[in-house]
Amino acid sequence: MFLTDKYGRDIHDLRISITDRCNYKCVYCRSGNNGPSFAELAIADYLRMVRVFVGMGITKVRLTGGEPLLRRGLVEMVTELSQMKTLAGRPLDIAITTNGHLLAELAKPLADAGLSRVTVSMDAVEPQHFARITRVPNGYERVAAGIHAAQRAGLDPVKVNCVLLRGFNDDQIAGFGRFAREEGVVVRFIEFMPLEEDRVWSPEIVITLDEIVRRMGDFMPLREIEHQRSETARRYVFADGIGEIGIIAPVSHPFCGQCSRIRVTSDGKIRTCLFSVREHDLAGLMAEGASDEEMSDFIRQAVDRKEARHHIGEPGFVAASRTMVHIGG
Ligand code: SAM
Repeated sequence: MFLTDKYGRDIHDLRISITDRCNYKCVYCRSGNNGPSFAELAIADYLRMVRVFVGMGITKVRLTGGEPLLRRGLVEMVTELSQMKTLAGRPLDIAITTNGHLLAELAKPLADAGLSRVTVSMDAVEPQHFARITRVPNGYERVAAGIHAAQRAGLDPVKVNCVLLRGFNDDQIAGFGRFAREEGVVVRFIEFMPLEEDRVWSPEIVITLDEIVRRMGDFMPLREIEHQRSETARRYVFADGIGEIGIIAPVSHPFCGQCSRIRVTSDGKIRTCLFSVREHDLAGLMAEGASDEEMSDFIRQAVDRKEARHHIGEPGFVAASRTMVHIGG
């Protein structure tokens, strides 16, 4: 009944992109060009897909993009998701990853609709630096207001994700340490992966887990705490116990062996890995009038082909067939 791949990994975490449009043009992610590249489905189509996945053992759904808060009908979608039950009869764990630009207005409606958690992406704690990265003026104030609105709405703890690039924003490490402690958010650093539109990735640009721990230690030492096996982030607290930092290290400490994820793109294609070079057209099957059972069979076949691991940094690495913004982070 449950979704398990041929390596014995249980798949219970669905990430679904509901648009690949974004109101930010983060320099390490996008080329700076405007406009969507891939289609969007009707919200009802995503909901039908989610229902089928949940019937196969999915317990957690993360809405992402592009920027998911740009999508009309998002609050209603969360209301519908909050009424679904896992196979164990429990409510779904519903999360959103957002750049936070529109969160101040939407945090409360989303929380009221049944959202469990929100992760806000933020790559600098200095407003001017933030604007240089996102290529949007005055975004920092809006995102900070969004984080506070999320906390007031009870979406606690708010997680803040930051991608560090050498020589670009790695001077923000201590600032993020201070931010985590003062704002009561969990700051999680994500190692930069070769999934950007401009193909600027190189191993030298990546600030690795070990380096982050070492450099944060100059601000205040970190102590590692226990994390669940299925969790992607290693967890740390500061020496005095105030403030939590997470580090997601797919490059230096890959966790593919514990991967529990499957993704659906905004145009309804299943991706079994961020680095997939092949997709599975679930939307196309739906458009042909497939039954829920046929969709389940199709999903099972896709999961059977889930990649063992990624090959970042290895000779012969083949780039993913889409970049992050068009997959859904
Ligand atoms: N717009 C939303 C946001 O900003 O969170 C959702 C989509 S965004 C693509 C999701 C996450 O992917 C962000 O935290 C972003 O920093 C991260 N990301 C983008 N490109 C990346 C890369 N090449 N390596 C690692 N993370 C990346």
